[in-house]
Amino acid sequence: MKILVINCGSSSLKYQLLDMEGEKLLAKGLCERIGIDGHLTHKPQNGRPLFNEDVPMPTHTEAIAAVLDKLTSPEYGVVESMREIGAVGHRVVHGGEKFAASVRINDDVMAAIAECIPLAPLHNPANITGIEACKAVMGDVPQVAVFDTAFHQTMPGKAFMYPIPYAYYTDLKVRRYGFHGTSHRYVSGRAAEMLGKPIEELKLISCHMGNGSSICAIDGGRSVDTSMGFTPIAGLPMGTRCGDIDVSILEYLSANTGKDIKELTNILNKMSGVLGVSGVSSDFRDLDTAAAQGNDRARLALDMFHYAVAKTVGGYVAAMNGVDGIIFTAGIGENSAATRAEICKYLTYLGIEICPECNKKRGEDTFISTEGSRVKVMVIPTNEELVIARDTRDIVAG
Ligand code: AMP
Repeated sequence: MKILVINCGSSSLKYQLLDMEGEKLLAKGLCERIGIDGHLTHKPQNGRPLFNEDVPMPTHTEAIAAVLDKLTSPEYGVVESMREIGAVGHRVVHGGEKFAASVRINDDVMAAIAECIPLAPLHNPANITGIEACKAVMGDVPQVAVFDTAFHQTMPGKAFMYPIPYAYYTDLKVRRYGFHGTSHRYVSGRAAEMLGKPIEELKLISCHMGNGSSICAIDGGRSVDTSMGFTPIAGLPMGTRCGDIDVSILEYLSANTGKDIKELTNILNKMSGVLGVSGVSSDFRDLDTAAAQGNDRARLALDMFHYAVAKTVGGYVAAMNGVDGIIFTAGIGENSAATRAEICKYLTYLGIEICPECNKKRGEDTFISTEGSRVKVMVIPTNEELVIARDTRDIVAG
């Protein structure tokens, strides 16, 4: 079965077409500036040329139509007709407490995703738009929703509740949800394969470190705690997000800057994290360069990040009363040997030993700990699209 995986943003749409026979990527691409003018980058994987041109996209419906046109075109295509696409899998950011697993989309599911809009006001409307656009262009082709929050629905109350009046949870759904669930699920599954043990017998800590970062404690294959919270701003300092800070800072800043909560929250989301501290960049490559040139604030931002990751990992070792494996993934986790090494310097008390040669490898699943390391450390490139495609295939196959 061939499956189209869609990740829809408010003005963008990322896609991959996978052939589930052999789990082969057939094509991938990106629609940008939807609703503004429109640009399509389409990368067939069969040797046909790249398409990288402006295409009018007044709405997501034209974007999906343009994607299908390229997927089936004689010049850029990878399939003969749209009928070869057996199903569509959508990344949906927020499933609230309603969805602990992926689900085939019908009217009730659409209503439930819409109910979660107050929890993810920027993301869920875009996801709904993407689903509706596919329906408009592809008719009755089965569609499946795969939620970023679903994997974390196994967290116990002591991990997901905030110590605030209980009615805010019951009446307004304020709790820790956690995100990056599809990534944490994928890398923990791969880690179990690499360790050669059933996941049910393993305690794992997955560090998804990219532009957004979160850590997840996975005990027996179930998420038992994670660092992002009610929203993705929580937990670690990130590229531009502040991570955990004292909530009273908001009132204090409001009183002293005249900015309201909305403006300040925007600053905490978009101008904080390592960008805010360093004043240099949200990109860890730029911070590495600046720190090497003697920029103290870039050094400080990096140190704060390593320290926060190490503290969170330590907390999760306590939460699970042990750990068998630690996983690094996403842009920073997969590519920055220096970041991994700095974080692991804090973890020698666990008997962790890093093999500097192995830590240099890139782009493949690999152990970076030594043979004798008591806890194994792995780098596993994440593949959220593959998880979405697998879930979609399994659900559609019934
Ligand atoms: P992601 O959100 O997973 O796509 O990760 C994107 C982030 O990964 C970028 O903003 C960079 O900070 C980081 N990144 C990518 N490549 C490297 C690298 N070679 N060294 C350090 N950080 C990197």
